[in-house]
Amino acid sequence: TILNQNEYLSTLNPPQREAVLHGNGPLMIIAGAGSGKTRVLTYRIAHLIGNGVDPFRILSLTFTNKASGEMRQRIEGAVGTEARNIWMGTFHSVFAKILRIEARYLGYTSDFSIYDTDDSKSLLRSIIKEYNLDDKVYKANVVFNRISGAKNRLISADDYINNAVIQADDDAAKMKEIGKLYKTYATRCFQANAMDFDDLLFNTNVLFRDFPDVLYKYQHKFEHVMVDEFQDTNVSQYLITRKLSAVHRNIVVVGDDAQSIYAFRGANIENILNFEKDFPDVQTIKLEQNYRSTSTIVEAANSVIARNKAQLEKKTFTQNEEGSLIDVIKANSDNEEGRLVATAIFEEKMQKALRNENFAILYRTNAQSRSFEEALRKLGIKYRIVGGQSFYQRKEIKDLLAYLRYTVNQRDEEAFKRIINLPKRGIGDTTVAKISVTASENNMPIWDVVANIGKYASGRTISPIEQFATLIKSFKIQVEEGKDAYEIAAHIAKASGILRELYEDKTVEGLSRYENVQELLNGIKEFVDSEETEDKSLSAFLQSVSLLTNADEPDENEDHDRVTMMTIHSAKGLEFRNVFIVGLEEDLFPSQMMLESRQDLEEERRLFYVAITRAEKKLTFSYAESRYQWGRIKLCEPSRFLLEVDQRFLNVSKMVQTATARDSGPPPITNFARNLRKPAAPVATSPGPAHSPSPDFVPSDTFDLTEGDKVEHLKFGFGTVTKMDVNGTDRKATVKFDLVGEKTLLLSFAKLRIL
Ligand code: ATP
Ligand code: MG
Repeated sequence: TILNQNEYLSTLNPPQREAVLHGNGPLMIIAGAGSGKTRVLTYRIAHLIGNGVDPFRILSLTFTNKASGEMRQRIEGAVGTEARNIWMGTFHSVFAKILRIEARYLGYTSDFSIYDTDDSKSLLRSIIKEYNLDDKVYKANVVFNRISGAKNRLISADDYINNAVIQADDDAAKMKEIGKLYKTYATRCFQANAMDFDDLLFNTNVLFRDFPDVLYKYQHKFEHVMVDEFQDTNVSQYLITRKLSAVHRNIVVVGDDAQSIYAFRGANIENILNFEKDFPDVQTIKLEQNYRSTSTIVEAANSVIARNKAQLEKKTFTQNEEGSLIDVIKANSDNEEGRLVATAIFEEKMQKALRNENFAILYRTNAQSRSFEEALRKLGIKYRIVGGQSFYQRKEIKDLLAYLRYTVNQRDEEAFKRIINLPKRGIGDTTVAKISVTASENNMPIWDVVANIGKYASGRTISPIEQFATLIKSFKIQVEEGKDAYEIAAHIAKASGILRELYEDKTVEGLSRYENVQELLNGIKEFVDSEETEDKSLSAFLQSVSLLTNADEPDENEDHDRVTMMTIHSAKGLEFRNVFIVGLEEDLFPSQMMLESRQDLEEERRLFYVAITRAEKKLTFSYAESRYQWGRIKLCEPSRFLLEVDQRFLNVSKMVQTATARDSGPPPITNFARNLRKPAAPVATSPGPAHSPSPDFVPSDTFDLTEGDKVEHLKFGFGTVTKMDVNGTDRKATVKFDLVGEKTLLLSFAKLRIL
């Protein structure tokens, strides 16, 4: 083998080496950020292969396809091209692959479509309409989240209806309707030979539960199972891995409870606790040394996360240099924040001779990217945005993909709706609805109606529908002839008329859409030509794109030397020399939308911890005092997180400078600096889970409120009125809440209760 054991083992510390050399049986590593968890998994796989384990028998589950790609490359460097045979990828991509192989057990064909979130919501919207439900009460979004939450806890539609899973803000009647919607939605997906993202896990569980032979096969196929970012696996994912390793029990999980940031999506930190119950003989190894960051960054991160109550005991230290303090940038506005951050990048780059790719800007929400984009562009600094309006979410891309999907699976209802009148063929919504009704009345797939439209309809719509059917049939023939994905896609782009329509649109947008479609075709060509692609069929290509996550965007430019901008959620597992955490303002980060209880605050704090620990050498915080939100200027307060960092590690001098340089009058910074010196507000004890709505909460201008009154707020919990401010009819109260600190509330809106 290419592998030289001594060489790579010597680059590991003793506990890391122990983990790599660990023999059979369960192993768990719960350790802080940057301690080499991912490195251990990578080396362990290389080590197993180097010692004769067949790569086909290794299953390795990672968080993004990109992460698994990088891991695979490293392993390839050590053991050669054999590494390509490892079963490695995200939960979704690996189990989609297994579901394709075993589809018939569940009544699907191996060409099943994968509905993305848009498809799912569009289908739900039509079902909600068919049931004549009020779409303000039954928002597709909300219903979708309910169904998704149920699936991730392995609750089927029937279970849902029978057990009446009551959500905080649902009454029994609403529950029942949601159960009905869930059931119909599931039936329609099945009829369309389609699975949504959650189904990929849900159905894998069903497959392994109901078909013991299939489970047996995979239990014996995979000799080693490894899971990275274990803290973010949900119940459904955990059960799959547990089952798969029940026979050989060679399961290695690595994670960090302090980085659990998907509780809202059903990821369950209890998995970590359960693991010890399910595998009582588990060996645990601690990794305590951080190799990624300066000691300033490591200790600042530790000081933040120490405020969380819910965490497992562990230590992190580093032998790295102390490094520089964390700069804090204060800006007047979001635009100024963009400028100051871009300038800081520019200066740091020049002074230290760094590259663009050494920098990352991390924010809480995608919408924050705009001001940084503008400012970087003005300074001529190249950047890339990960996530946001993703390449695969663009209309023209989804259109062509829908044609491709429909070509392999004519039962795909959502793809059908997208393309039936695209380019325009004069087939209106009413006709489409009629086709859909006819199909369900006759209990047959939509395609059977479309392909035999003469039998079911008459009049002038017949001819365009027939033309559409003929077109699809001609595409299908190419699939049957065994042409590869590129040949078929290139043909479809032309023959469908999509390319022509975009080509004829001579606007700038039209041109860029045309280029995007070309870009997609290039991507398909690359897929087909790649040595790593075994199956070059259209359906294999579709599978590979339908599971791309935000972090897997194609690099549209060869040039990798770019500043990265992304949300903190997608930065998990990554590292950059210089990191800017921006928008550190109350209500933005921690996010107001996510804050309903102490648990939520702890999750936001873990997210802050993840952000801090991405930085290797230099960290900068920034916040704005005002920003545009829904077309209005909103005044912002600095985030409580700024006060939670041990103040020894902050450098506010830069902030004073920029502030005095720009503001006339007394620098408002002094206020903040005073705040910074004052001990951070004590963390309140939990007022319990989210407050349940109570009829006692009324807009507070209906009663008299005075300073010193104790109140309870629906969202912010308990507090004391510290100030009243009456200005005509505009009455405001400042309340110091135990949990979230001081807030000024407009009494005509704030729902309070006097205690
Ligand atoms: P996260 O929790 O953020 O996912 P992690 O625990 O997975 O972090 P890695 O990404 O594996 O940590 O490692 C962090 C950095 O430290 C990487 O650049 C890695 O190459 C480096 N590193 C890890 N262990 C060692 C070591 N023994 N010697 C030198 N560098 C190391
Ligand atoms: Mg990692």
